[in-house]
Amino acid sequence: MNKKLSFTTRSIHSGYDASQHEGSLNPPVYMTSTYCFDDVEQGAARFAGEAQGHVYSRISNPTQAVLETRLADLEDAEACLATASGMGAITAAIWTLVRPGDTVIADKTLYGCTFSFFQHGLTRFGVNVEFVDCTDIEAVSRALSAKTRVVYFESPVNPTMRVIDIAAISQRVHDYNPGIKVMVDNTYCTPALQRPINLGADLVVHSATKYLGGHGDLIAGAVAGKQDLIGEIRLFGLKDMTGAVIAPLTAFLILRGLKSLSLRMERHSTSALALAKHLQGHKAVRAVYYPGLEDSPYFPLASRQMKAPGGMIAMELEGGFDAGVAFMNGLQLIKRAVSLGDAETLCQHPASMTHSTYAPEERAEHDISEGLVRLSVGLEDVEDVLADVEQALAGV
Ligand SMILES: *Cc1c(COP(=O)(O)O)cnc(C)c1O
Repeated sequence: MNKKLSFTTRSIHSGYDASQHEGSLNPPVYMTSTYCFDDVEQGAARFAGEAQGHVYSRISNPTQAVLETRLADLEDAEACLATASGMGAITAAIWTLVRPGDTVIADKTLYGCTFSFFQHGLTRFGVNVEFVDCTDIEAVSRALSAKTRVVYFESPVNPTMRVIDIAAISQRVHDYNPGIKVMVDNTYCTPALQRPINLGADLVVHSATKYLGGHGDLIAGAVAGKQDLIGEIRLFGLKDMTGAVIAPLTAFLILRGLKSLSLRMERHSTSALALAKHLQGHKAVRAVYYPGLEDSPYFPLASRQMKAPGGMIAMELEGGFDAGVAFMNGLQLIKRAVSLGDAETLCQHPASMTHSTYAPEERAEHDISEGLVRLSVGLEDVEDVLADVEQALAGV
């Protein structure tokens, strides 16, 4: 039944049957660590995986299960595992997939902590990580070998909003070896705008902290894919390797956030497009990076791959580092904060904040120029956001 309903309707209803819960419109928050068995035989069957049912909340919880069913449905995946953070999802999945001697191929630009996990974590345990520019399919092809286990990337990629062709990479990688897992971080788009599984990817990961939760009040993550693999990630990556289990109340809050996901992503996208177009002609702005702009090199691919261009914009200010600092300090409505996907418009200046410990040359290697500013366009009236950006730019 659910599969025939639209995405928006499923984001409100999927995975929950009120008649099973005293008619409660919203899913109950099951605050429990453990579950009582009728008899030893039932307990034994659950432990052996021969009977359905919960055992202990580091493995599963009924509130979490509603969220997982809903997210799997929205991603067009067979199954989903919700976790305590985006990093919890990424690490649980990767620890399940790799062994010493394996290679992970990753895009050259990643979320900072994902980069650190790959570069400083995996390599300690004998896993090789090769960073390539995943917008270059031939470069990905050349990097593939008998040792490749995972190909990992985000799209669009922070901060310059490069867009990576999920279908083309998945096809190329699976032609080479169907056993290699193509893993896509879909945090920036959410399934409302992009569904990597339908484009051939094996696993989708999320920081649910961002748009899925949508209100800046929680930390959580998720990984979706084939049933068997998600089961393995749950019973090894989560249960034994990371323990990064989601709290029941957090799962409830994400379910609440999902009810407005479609509406929010539409609004984030139309506001970001309006702001990007406005900034394009501005004399204080050297470049605007947004895949919804027709002269973006990624516009044709983004139009195919994404339902709308999303809420993230980066811009490069004339005047470098000092301009970035002056712009940030001039903001009155927009909040100076990292993270993204909230109702509030958030702004950060990587050179003085997230990447301040890098040398300028290192920043350049990661496409982070001194005057680069990143905006997560929120749900306020776009006229008010524009006015704040305008007055802050006037003061630069
Ligand atoms: C925030 C973020 C993460 C990490 O998620 P947490 O919930 O903070 O652990 C991973 N990938 C992307 C693209 C992110 O923005």
